[in-house]
Amino acid sequence: MMKTPAFAAASAKSPLGPYSIERREPGPRDVLIDILYCGICHSDIHQARGEWRGSIFPMVPGHEIVGKVVAAGNQVGKWKVGDTVGVGCFVDSCRECEACREGEEQFCEPGMSLTYNSYERDGKTPTYGGYSTRITVNEDYVLRIPAGLPLERVAPLLCAGITTYSPMRRHGVKDGDSIAVVGLGGLGHMGVKIAKAMGAKVTVLSHSPGKRDDALALGADGFIPTRDEKVFRENARRFHFILDTVSATHDYNAYLGLLRRGGTMVLVGIPDPTPLSAAPLVMQRRNLAGSLIGGIRETQEMLDFCAGHGVVSDVEVIPIQKVNEAYDRVIKSDVRYRFVIDLASLKQP
Ligand code: NAP
Ligand code: ZN
Ligand code: ZN
Repeated sequence: MMKTPAFAAASAKSPLGPYSIERREPGPRDVLIDILYCGICHSDIHQARGEWRGSIFPMVPGHEIVGKVVAAGNQVGKWKVGDTVGVGCFVDSCRECEACREGEEQFCEPGMSLTYNSYERDGKTPTYGGYSTRITVNEDYVLRIPAGLPLERVAPLLCAGITTYSPMRRHGVKDGDSIAVVGLGGLGHMGVKIAKAMGAKVTVLSHSPGKRDDALALGADGFIPTRDEKVFRENARRFHFILDTVSATHDYNAYLGLLRRGGTMVLVGIPDPTPLSAAPLVMQRRNLAGSLIGGIRETQEMLDFCAGHGVVSDVEVIPIQKVNEAYDRVIKSDVRYRFVIDLASLKQP
């Protein structure tokens, strides 16, 4: 085992602080990755603060990892020392169930091994995420980072990128479609960039009126501030597709009314439950769906798509010592548009 510096939350009530974890020596099919950057996803906060069931403490969050391979087991065929690689939201799965066989490991029937707040396949070894200096991962759960991209701006693609890319691909967002992205945060700003790269006409719906200029600078064609309720009447039946990335409870029914006949709204944000009416769905034969990250194959496809279109995240790079402040700013929707931890800050003595 290898002693490895990390930042952890000791409980749902405690701020994150320095902590030491053990990483396994790479087995025959493992790679050891020196972590350069790790994005801060709102899911890190939900879990570190115990907002979802089943938080395991101490918790080392982080599932938007970019780094370099520094060692590889003797049967590793896909990677060599020096490769620039990524690790996303999961580090293993059963490999045998229908979902795994179809390359949708995120829906693994016995359950994927999440990158943190989860267990390895043995069901008892806790997993620890990217707020640490290195990680050992089976080679099949590692992504190739295309050359030539600024690595701190690539890290958020590993979760925010795939979570927005996957539903837009699945629901066939295409050239000329009128789509809306609800919530301009980490996921939302990637949704805007990726939808634009797919050729769609994109409108941002935001409860932060001050984000208008940013939305347009990110490539959006329009901006609707949602605090004013009349916008829901004015924009009724306007969009083919809506991607809802909001992390806090809000009224889905109001947003469904913005869909055209037969349009689809996909939820990726995971707030507390809220009531849903049948009428907005029934009356215009609308669809409401959800989506969860993406499998390894599709995550690689997304990385290659983003590289091909020059799509990367807008980031604020921070030392790990600022992680608690960053969490508070994310909660206040004051992030432009993803915090990314520079792990050099944890490597210095
Ligand atoms: P984020 O950066 O905090 O963005 C969320 C955005 O939601 C905010 O920027 C804000 O946008 C909006 N919002 C926040 N509070 C609001 C409120 N009270 N009322 C209305 N809008 C509000 O978070 P993120 O990292 O993008 O994650 C978003 C959600 O997706 C989280 O719940 C996260 O757990 C979830 N998630 C899901 C998946 C998946 O696979 N399905 C993957 C990753 C994350 P405006 O200021 O523009 O309104
Ligand atoms: Zn995430
Ligand atoms: Zn499986």
